[in-house]
Amino acid sequence: MLKKSRIVKCDECRGDCCDGLVLEIEKPRTKEDYEDVRWYLYHERTHVYIDKDGDWMAEMDLPCIHRSGRGGRCKIYNKRPPMCRDGTHSECELNFDDVKVRFRTVGEYDAWLRKRRSR
Ligand code: SF4
Ligand code: SF4
Repeated sequence: MLKKSRIVKCDECRGDCCDGLVLEIEKPRTKEDYEDVRWYLYHERTHVYIDKDGDWMAEMDLPCIHRSGRGGRCKIYNKRPPMCRDGTHSECELNFDDVKVRFRTVGEYDAWLRKRRSR
């Protein structure tokens, strides 16, 4: 992962990690698998990216229901789940560039597939 020049610490951040979620998806191997990746991109506010280890991830811009508005505080802070307690700025994507290639739209994905096939 490439470290960014300025490190943002959790206590000076608006809590961007509460505004969405990232899930690893199956790495496509067959033609049909590659077709299936489109399904993620058909959804609103959903991107797919390949990280620097070659893992495929779906990133959904869906804020947590416990957030009091965009950029707001956690309404269940003292009872927040372990996942929220364990996240730290030292592993945060705000501070490390772990994206090899990102597809924001089906068009971007198709262009990448065409380029890949022509190699
Ligand atoms: S983990 Fe990252 S996004 Fe979340 S509060 Fe810390 S610096 Fe901000
Ligand atoms: S439970 Fe609180 S800390 Fe965890 S994602 Fe939701 S708003 Fe953020």
